[in-house]
Amino acid sequence: MNQTILLVEDEKEIADTLTYALSSEGFQPSWVSSCEAALSSIKQHSYDLGIFDIGLPDGNGFELLKTIRHSGNDIPILFLTARGEEIDRIVGLEIGADDYVTKPFSPREVVARVRVILKRLEKQQKILEQNTILETDKSVFRHVPEQRVVTYQASPIDLTRAEYELMISFIAQPGRVFSRRQLIENIWSSNHPSDDRAIDTHIKTLRAKLKTLNPHKEFIITHRGFGYSLEP
Ligand code: CA
Repeated sequence: MNQTILLVEDEKEIADTLTYALSSEGFQPSWVSSCEAALSSIKQHSYDLGIFDIGLPDGNGFELLKTIRHSGNDIPILFLTARGEEIDRIVGLEIGADDYVTKPFSPREVVARVRVILKRLEKQQKILEQNTILETDKSVFRHVPEQRVVTYQASPIDLTRAEYELMISFIAQPGRVFSRRQLIENIWSSNHPSDDRAIDTHIKTLRAKLKTLNPHKEFIITHRGFGYSLEP
């Protein structure tokens, strides 16, 4: 089945161009031109991805996404931004979008970004659905996908979403050294503007949580100049 895309854009010309480009690449776009119409449409349909303009007649794309996230919907979002808009906030943790393109853009670029996001999510979904067990003589980590938890010695570890996604990337491939860029891609997107410090921050909090599980063991190893790995 074609993947469905909700396009929220108040400029008809842009909407027409994108609708045409997306349809001809096999996607099924639906176009609305206001936040209100977007909210009502998203309640009725389950879209695979959203493309949101930021300046809309009855609000802005940031607020729209916030409302959608508050309702528990984690639909991936690509923002269309004008130059000078707060790009740092867009894809950052604060807003929780997946990517953005700056106007003026080519429709082809938008379609390419959409593909990248959907492909990454597909990959992530596979990892998320894997029931992974990482067992050594002393420790057992287990990913329980149905409950979206990682357990240690059968007790769930209390993790944020980013920590959870880091953790399942690690336990899916124990001992593998992940670069910060790879970890950013696993959690956010390939051209996420956030720098390596964002990953370091999540690693730091994750490390502290793992330390409380076993104070004598350093589970997450820092590989200077490369990245991080999990050593069970
Ligand atoms: Ca606009």
